[in-house]
Amino acid sequence: MRTVIAGGTLVTADGACAVDVLIDGEKVAALTAGASSISAQWRESADAVVDATGKYVLPGGIDAHTHMDMPFGGTTSADTFETGTRAAAWGGTTMIIDFAIQTKGSSLLAGMDAWQKRADGVCAVDYSFHAIISDVTETSLKEMDVLVAQGVTSFKLFMAYPGVFYATDRDILQAMDRATSNGALIMIHAENGIAIDAIVASALARGQTDPIFHGLTRPAEMEGEAANRAIRLAQVTGAPLYIVHLSSAPALAAVVEARDRGQNTFAETCPQYLFLSQDDMDRPGFEGAKFVCTPPLRPREHQAALWRGLRTDDLSVVATDHCPFCFAEQKELGRGDFTKIPNGLPGVENRMDLIYQGVVAGEISLARWVEVTSTNPAKMFGLYPRKGAVAPGSDADIVIYDPAAEQTISAATHHMAVDYSCYEGMEIKGRVETVFSRGRRIIGDGAYTGEPGHGRFVPRRLSQALR
Ligand SMILES: [Zn+2]
Repeated sequence: MRTVIAGGTLVTADGACAVDVLIDGEKVAALTAGASSISAQWRESADAVVDATGKYVLPGGIDAHTHMDMPFGGTTSADTFETGTRAAAWGGTTMIIDFAIQTKGSSLLAGMDAWQKRADGVCAVDYSFHAIISDVTETSLKEMDVLVAQGVTSFKLFMAYPGVFYATDRDILQAMDRATSNGALIMIHAENGIAIDAIVASALARGQTDPIFHGLTRPAEMEGEAANRAIRLAQVTGAPLYIVHLSSAPALAAVVEARDRGQNTFAETCPQYLFLSQDDMDRPGFEGAKFVCTPPLRPREHQAALWRGLRTDDLSVVATDHCPFCFAEQKELGRGDFTKIPNGLPGVENRMDLIYQGVVAGEISLARWVEVTSTNPAKMFGLYPRKGAVAPGSDADIVIYDPAAEQTISAATHHMAVDYSCYEGMEIKGRVETVFSRGRRIIGDGAYTGEPGHGRFVPRRLSQALR
């Protein structure tokens, strides 16, 4: 099957120009100047020609941080791998990297098996896993090497959630040390969980139980402190470090300082920290619960710092931390006690559109939009140039994007299995029109034409972002 995408503007991390794309089977076969004689020949002999006139053609989005079907706080995130990857496709994301969790007392490999079973045969788009280390032992350190050989080359540890995922500085140092020998990338949830637990306890003792107190008990300084501590531990071991869901100016300052020193330190932020704020957690009644995630939404002043970080490459990646819980029955578990609200927001479907609004507003360039949503995550997690590029030999994961379209974000029209949208009623520019996943058209003419199980597990190489 040979398909030509003709007449569009190819947008990559390097810039934008009039280029036509030839897809052969699952791969990009060739590129040629738009409206050229070569393109004319392709169009004559192809099985299908897709007219992309007036549209952008870009590498499919890669969301490097999702939690499909994840148990948390006595419930499970509302999207399965099937519904979540289908929603991703609707939003122009053609690959996700989810997290396989090691439960305390069990092995890393058992965690990976369990998550592979959840995803196997049901995904609409390609997927991969990071491993969450909850229990640093001699065995789990050795298992890191095994997983690296299987294409799981990144490992996440938590400085938050004492008693659940919490890793001590000793644990983190040991995992980092191992990473320097096996080449893995260490990912850190940077919040000082021990101090935060004490702040939370005194808030509850004062009867402060509303959703807003989730935010007020996790101050940005506690993220800044933990980010700095993780960075210094990484500096001592020489391990590369990736800080997930960076949400605040103090944490960004620590990253900037480390990068200026030449350390291999990277960070991702998420659309919710760029577009939502602490005020949303203070909405009347219990509605604020819809906006409870960790780290929490910050006072609006932090947003400008994060956009700046995206421009200066101190923030390299935008991922979603997609972890949806329905308002009915799930978020409601926390009525009367904010600590019982399941932490997480839906977003996998909205990421490409939302970050495109940064282009519309002049915060970032068109090329940078593609870089932070696709190319950088591909390089960061060892997928480039198979993913994150539209180049000969790359997987034909391609999005055709209509920059002139307008749409209103709403739970009534989204495809995530969750009963609300954090961006309800937001009017935006741009829209995903067509999506190819490994050469197969899975979104087009307003319909989903993919199928569960088309998406495959993708083993990853070591990070290609290190300097
Ligand atoms: Zn997460």
